[in-house]
Amino acid sequence: MKDKDYYEILGVSQTATSEEIRHAFQKKARRLHPDVNKDEDAEAEFKEVSEAYAVLSDQEKRSRYDAMRSRNPFGAGAGASGSPFDDFDFGSFGGFPFGGFGFGGKQKMGVPAYNPKPGADVVIHLTIDEKTAKEGGKKAITYERFVECNLCHGKGSVQSAEIKECPTCHGTGHIDVDLGVLFGGEGFGAFQVQCPECEGSGKVIADPCPNCNGSGRILAGTEEVIEIGPRTHDGTEILVPYMGNAGTNGQKSGQLRVIIDVPAEKISPDVKFGFACIGFAVPFLLIGAFLQVLGAMLLFVILPLLMGISLTFRAIVKKHNAYWWRNAGASILEGATNGFFLAAALALLMSCTQGSGR
Ligand SMILES: [Zn+2]
Ligand SMILES: [Zn+2]
Repeated sequence: MKDKDYYEILGVSQTATSEEIRHAFQKKARRLHPDVNKDEDAEAEFKEVSEAYAVLSDQEKRSRYDAMRSRNPFGAGAGASGSPFDDFDFGSFGGFPFGGFGFGGKQKMGVPAYNPKPGADVVIHLTIDEKTAKEGGKKAITYERFVECNLCHGKGSVQSAEIKECPTCHGTGHIDVDLGVLFGGEGFGAFQVQCPECEGSGKVIADPCPNCNGSGRILAGTEEVIEIGPRTHDGTEILVPYMGNAGTNGQKSGQLRVIIDVPAEKISPDVKFGFACIGFAVPFLLIGAFLQVLGAMLLFVILPLLMGISLTFRAIVKKHNAYWWRNAGASILEGATNGFFLAAALALLMSCTQGSGR
């Protein structure tokens, strides 16, 4: 993730001395170190704190970071929460905070990473009515996705396709954090964090395209006509190749995945559970009757049956289409399968105890 507020992560002020920064890192990292803290979030937090320390403890890296912050009018940490894109990339808009200096006064936020990655799929839900589900049809949808930048044609740079070594990690793709500072003394080795400037690739774009800021793709509205075949039911997934997000730096696009919703065919989770309960009771009833041990199995028949009926009753009395009933049937079958194994085990157990009692 880019545009992080490293000062906030460490809990220090922007004027903090290197001594204060080291202190803050020690305090946080000791608590979060994977050897000490087994909490799931702790490891991610440890990496974040280490990244912040790796940048702020190095005078050169820190001054470049500070320079970016004073230029960025939105400030660090401008979020994009709730974005529909799982690989949402700040690089397309702001660029990495580093590298604000030394570009001859060009209006540039930073040096973007050269980070070629295939684009992610875009998932969209499309609600259709019963008639369209049955007979099929066409539906136009509009959605937002990353498309190849038309200025650099996905390369990320316009004048030249030049890629250069990352100035922050010198091409290694990672920064070392000395762990000696954590526990005091030598011999603790170094902890490596992914370089935030090049995102681990070790390379940055030397001549970033002003339109996409080096990523090779931009966010744009897209229109697409979805062909819905006859007998398309709730939950069907329609795939449209290459209509997902474009990859970065010329990599291939993901696909568009359209998930069909047919409200008339949907069974709510509690009704579904109710049908499964009814199904669960059936094997006990049948096996119990067949082996003439129904009395002993009655509890497994009556309880799920009562529960199932109370959950499904209100839904059953309404009018439903055939596919709804097919879903209901599938839930009953699922419950019956579970019930069968338990009923068979119970019957076996009873025949064993009866046999030894004689
Ligand atoms: Zn471009
Ligand atoms: Zn780097």
